[in-house]
Amino acid sequence: MTTATVLGAVLGGGLVGCGNAEVPRSARPAAADSASAAAHAPVRTPSSAPPATKRPPTLAPGPDGLTSVFKRGPQHAEKVVAFTFDADMTADEGPRAAAGEHFDNPELIALLRRLKVPATVFMTGRWAEEYPSQARSIGTDPLFEIGNHSYSHYAFTSPCYGLPTMGTDEIRGEVERTFGAIRKTGARNVVPYFRFPGGCYDNASLRALAPEKVTAVQWDVVSGDAFATDADAVAEQVLAGVKPGSLVVMHCTRSAAPVTDQAVGRVVPELRKRGYRFVKVSELMAG
Ligand SMILES: [Zn+2]
Repeated sequence: MTTATVLGAVLGGGLVGCGNAEVPRSARPAAADSASAAAHAPVRTPSSAPPATKRPPTLAPGPDGLTSVFKRGPQHAEKVVAFTFDADMTADEGPRAAAGEHFDNPELIALLRRLKVPATVFMTGRWAEEYPSQARSIGTDPLFEIGNHSYSHYAFTSPCYGLPTMGTDEIRGEVERTFGAIRKTGARNVVPYFRFPGGCYDNASLRALAPEKVTAVQWDVVSGDAFATDADAVAEQVLAGVKPGSLVVMHCTRSAAPVTDQAVGRVVPELRKRGYRFVKVSELMAG
């Protein structure tokens, strides 16, 4: 198979059902501001504090210390829905980007801004390195927050839609390298959330991830936007799947998801008509 075919299989395959971990629902209260805040600094009320200093909610580790997995908000919740977009670029795709392939999707980001739809973007470190000004723009806009989607986009467990697999001893390095690459762009709205490449994980990867103190974020609605050519079909799939508290997975890359912005343009007004409000994952997780 060609690389494109393999990636097609990777991204186009049904991404649901990879996980098997329990999902603790108890939200950990936001940590108090660290003592490193200067004692003489002016006292801020929460409402006047800049957004970047607000600590997003995370889920407490499971009873055996494994990283917790968040898949959707409470089902009894009000009509809220979180859109997530994976900004995929694999470690070995640099030459393809140099040859003119677009792993970004600035039109999608512009559309979300026009429609005022908040979103969580799960970015690979390699994507942030390739598109630093876009990463900074997304990561300094309060409409968005950026989560970690690994550096290389290789699988954290096997099998995973044909993705090359990394060792569990490489997991922490991948996560830290990615947070470093994202922050290096100047992005500030970076949240301690991690999305596994391909959505594939097991207890070993959750255990290896635990020291990073991130919450793993999956989804309950697959948009089917990977390698889709029919925006209406993607829109229909999302509209059929969304329930109160849903978390939708889509992509922010023209290369692998060329009709996502068209689909979003159709889905957003319809969901609003149905009474839905769009939130970021951090708000969904806060409950
Ligand atoms: Zn991905």
